[in-house]
Amino acid sequence: MTLTRLREALADCATLLGPGRVCANSVELARVNAATFLTEARAPAILKPVNREQVAACLRIANHYRVPVYPVSTGKNWGYGSAVAPHDGCILLSLACLTAIVEFDAQTGHIRLEPGVSFQQLHAYLQEHGPRFQPPHTGSGAQTSVIGNIMERGIGKGLYEDMATHVHACEAVLANGQILKTNQDASGPHLFGLLPQSNLAIVVEITLQLEPAPHHSQLITFPIDGGAAALLRAVRGLHDTAMRAGPRSQFAFLNDYRITSQLTQFPHDHLDARVALPREWMQHCLAPWKGAQWIGACTVWADDVDELDWRRKRLIVALHALGLTPQTETPIDGPQLALDDDGLRCAYWRKKFPMPLQPDLDSDRCGVIWVAPVLPLGNPHLDTIISELEAVTLGHGFEPAIALRTGRTGSMRLILGLFFDRDLPGADPRALQCQQALHAVLQRTNVQCYRHTLFDSAVSMDAGALSVFAALKTQIDPHGILAPGRYGLA
Ligand SMILES: Cc1cc2nc3c(=O)[nH]c(=O)nc-3n(C[C@H](O)[C@H](O)[C@H](O)COP(=O)(O)OP(=O)(O)OC[C@H]3O[C@@H](n4cnc5c(N)ncnc54)[C@H](O)[C@@H]3O)c2cc1C
Repeated sequence: MTLTRLREALADCATLLGPGRVCANSVELARVNAATFLTEARAPAILKPVNREQVAACLRIANHYRVPVYPVSTGKNWGYGSAVAPHDGCILLSLACLTAIVEFDAQTGHIRLEPGVSFQQLHAYLQEHGPRFQPPHTGSGAQTSVIGNIMERGIGKGLYEDMATHVHACEAVLANGQILKTNQDASGPHLFGLLPQSNLAIVVEITLQLEPAPHHSQLITFPIDGGAAALLRAVRGLHDTAMRAGPRSQFAFLNDYRITSQLTQFPHDHLDARVALPREWMQHCLAPWKGAQWIGACTVWADDVDELDWRRKRLIVALHALGLTPQTETPIDGPQLALDDDGLRCAYWRKKFPMPLQPDLDSDRCGVIWVAPVLPLGNPHLDTIISELEAVTLGHGFEPAIALRTGRTGSMRLILGLFFDRDLPGADPRALQCQQALHAVLQRTNVQCYRHTLFDSAVSMDAGALSVFAALKTQIDPHGILAPGRYGLA
């Protein structure tokens, strides 16, 4: 891409979008060119269309001048790369100004959203117009985008789990400017599956199928003593219960470091920040679970008290059969109303200040890198792999904050968070070295990741499937202008 072509493309976009909608000022660029780890790629400008017609027109201009663009919804892909593109020189196409909730069917729970709609906005809308439905949310910030999360095949909390599976219909602009509409009710192949974790199109609208809000919920936790081997006995032992319980019971398993990083901050006054926190320092945080290294948690949802009782009892029987001791929290009546940024606290674990009221992990220089493998439950070496991941992380001077999510499939998603302070000299390169060493463990043990950061983006698709995708990409985006390199795709 030559500088002249870039300038001409930006001039045409400025004419198209109007004043203030093509931004190249250094302050705003510095903001979007920062992530939660060290990155080198820089966007030369930001485009801020306000409707889907403008998005399509921007893509036509980019195609005409052969300048690459990288789309983000709210650009808060924290821990995976934020708004930074895999390659240098991509114009950032921000969809944050497309904030319409286009239509809501209060009977079916279908809601049509644009990419700038945040979880917070959707939550507030449903409180007013659809309290019968459960708003989706994740462990990330309330201001992150519902569509941005879906495009990463993000994991929702509560009833939503795999967010992309709740998509009923979608409208996208292909890299060549063509419009693609998909609908789960239509016969023929479901093309939406080609779009998340991909670079074929920019999604400008999604129809989400909302879940009805359950009337009651209850959290049951259980300490698991005995390290990774005991954890796996519990996970495998509870798999049948999880499959039979369906989406109304959700299991998670957190290690001591994950819980501690969520509840408190690194004791900078007492310990050297270049080394990992010794396990004995976490005892007070883990006191409710008698200091166990792993804690299991299951939330059950129900529509009446009898159903809740029945679900809880089944779980307790299953836990006792495995020698685990359940601790039941008080049941909650009514839908879950609060939506906050609490899940982001772990990102401030290593910072020397507490999480502010409006957390912005990139500008607060919170270091976060996620390593996200998916592990088949039948893998006989699972406990060794988890122990190795912990040891490698500790060896690099970081705490291995691990959460496991199991569902009804025969696999579990492991999310290992490296939380560090980007202001600590040397922490940035050390974190990247640690990430590489963790991926080396996964590669050696043949374990794939289900989600990637900018730096480990090699899709784990079958070679044949990859060549079919490559043929589609060449046909739709012959000049490779849309998100080149995203997920390792050309
Ligand atoms: C402490 C912490 C907790 C977190 N918890 C969770 C969690 O529970 N679950 C979870 O899934 N994530 C979690 N995250 C990661 C992340 O913050 C969220 O996934 C967030 O929703 C992604 O940011 P975003 O919505 O702004 O998406 P964006 O950054 O806008 O986009 C994400 C990706 O999708 C692509 N994309 C975005 N919009 C479009 C579009 N319209 N068309 C085509 N491609 C598009 C972008 O190119 C980008 O690669 C967490 C992060 C932190 C730090």
